[in-house]
Amino acid sequence: MAEKLTLESFMSDLIRRNPGETEFHQAVEEVAEVVIPFAQANPEYLESSVITRLTEPDRAVIFRVTWEDDRGEVHVNRGYRVQFNNAIGPYKGGLRFHPSVNLSILKFLGFEQVLKNSLTTLPLGAAKGGADFDPKGKSDREVMRFCQAFMTELSHHIGPNRDIPAGDIGVGTREISYLFGQYKRMSQEFAGVLTGKELSFGGSLIRTEATGYGCAYFMQEMLEHRGDSVEGKTCVISGSGNVALYCAEKLISLGAHVITLSDSSGFIHDSDGIDAHKLAWLKDLKFRRRGRIEAYCEEFPDAHFYPDSPPWTVTCDLAFPCATQNELSEDDAECLLQNGCIGVAEGANMPSTKGAIRLFREAKISYGPGKAANAGGVAVSGFEMSQNSMRMAWTREDLEDRLRKTMCKVHSECVEYGQEKDHVDYVKGANIGGFIKVADAMLDFGVV
Ligand code: GLU
Repeated sequence: MAEKLTLESFMSDLIRRNPGETEFHQAVEEVAEVVIPFAQANPEYLESSVITRLTEPDRAVIFRVTWEDDRGEVHVNRGYRVQFNNAIGPYKGGLRFHPSVNLSILKFLGFEQVLKNSLTTLPLGAAKGGADFDPKGKSDREVMRFCQAFMTELSHHIGPNRDIPAGDIGVGTREISYLFGQYKRMSQEFAGVLTGKELSFGGSLIRTEATGYGCAYFMQEMLEHRGDSVEGKTCVISGSGNVALYCAEKLISLGAHVITLSDSSGFIHDSDGIDAHKLAWLKDLKFRRRGRIEAYCEEFPDAHFYPDSPPWTVTCDLAFPCATQNELSEDDAECLLQNGCIGVAEGANMPSTKGAIRLFREAKISYGPGKAANAGGVAVSGFEMSQNSMRMAWTREDLEDRLRKTMCKVHSECVEYGQEKDHVDYVKGANIGGFIKVADAMLDFGVV
C-alpha cells in the first residue's frame, strides 16, 4: 500500500483531513514535492506512514484569553500552541501576536519549524503558537495584561524540557518579559522556559540580531559557493522588524548596498544606500518610538516613500523578503528576475508564493527558502537554552562565531541534498536535509 504513495494522493488526503487550511497545505506541498520522490528512491522512508505522521501535529491547544483594556472594557482573544513534533528535542518555536493568526497559519509555521530546527543540527523539536491579538496601538499596560492572561493558560503546557516558546511577529523583548514574569509567578520556579529574554534574566547576546544576521550569512554562503560575494551588491529588503533591520546591518557591514525597507503601509527607496547612521535612526524609530517607515523620508529627504506596495519592482542583485508569508507573488518574482536579480534569501517564513518559488527554481538563481535562510534565530535560541542549562553567559564573539558556523552547516546540508548538475536546488536540499534526521528518529522509536 505504502509504495503507492504519490504527491496527488498524499495531498488530497492532507486536504481532506485539514479542510480550508490553505497556508498549511501550501507549506506541506512544497516539502512533499521533493520528499515523496526522495522516499520512492529510498523506500525505508515509506515505512510506517512516517511522512503522514510528520505532517500531523502531536497536539494543538486552543484557549480563551480574557483581558481588560485601560478603560476597563473586557476583550476576548483566542490563544494557541501547536506542538508539532518532539522527535529530536523539546518543542521549540515562536509565538505570534497578529490579527491574522489562526490554526492554519500556526500549523504551517509549526511544520516549517520542524525542518528548520532539524537543519540547525541542534536538538530542537518544533512548535508554534500565538494569538489573534494586535499589540499595535495598545498601551504597555494593555499588552502586559494580555500577556499575563495568555501565559496563565499557556503555562500548563510548556516547560524548559517540554516546550520553549520565543518571539515572532508582534512578540518582541517587551512581550517575552511580561510572559516570563507571569510564568515565573505561576510555576514558582526560575526556569529557562522562553528564549529572547532580556540579558538581565537569562537572555543571550545577539538573539535579537540572529535571524537577520543569519539570513545575510546564508546569502553570503550561497554566493561564495558560486565564486561570488555580497560585497558591492544592491539589496532590496522588505520589512522593518528585527529580521529586516539586522539583515540590513549585516549586509552593510559586508559591503553591500541596501536600498529599501518596508512596513505594512509601503516601502522606502533610498538609492544613495541605507548606511550605518541611517540604520541607527531607523532602529530608534521602529524599536523605541514604534513609528511608521514613511517617517524615514522626512529625516532623509532624498529617499522616496511608495505607499501600499512591496519593493520587488526596484532593480536589485539580491532580494530579502523579511516581512511575512506570501508577500512575494509570482508577478513579483518575474519582475525581480527580469531586472537581473541573482539571489533571494528569505528572512520571513514562507514569504514567496508557490508560483514565485517555481520561477526562482526554474531560473536556477540562488534561492534560499526561509527554513534554511532564517534558521539563525532559532539556532541562537538553542544557544540561549544551553547557556540557561549551564547557568553561564557566552560572549558576543563566541555567539557570532557559533551563529556563523551554524549557517555554514545549514548551507552545507542544503548542498549535500540539493546539488544538481549545474546549480544547487536549495528547496530540495533544505527539505530533504531537514526531513531525514526527524524521520530517522521517528522510525527508530517504532510506531508511536
Ligand atoms: N520565530 C522564530 C522562527 O520563526 C524563532 C523561533 C525560536 O527562536 O524559537 O524561527
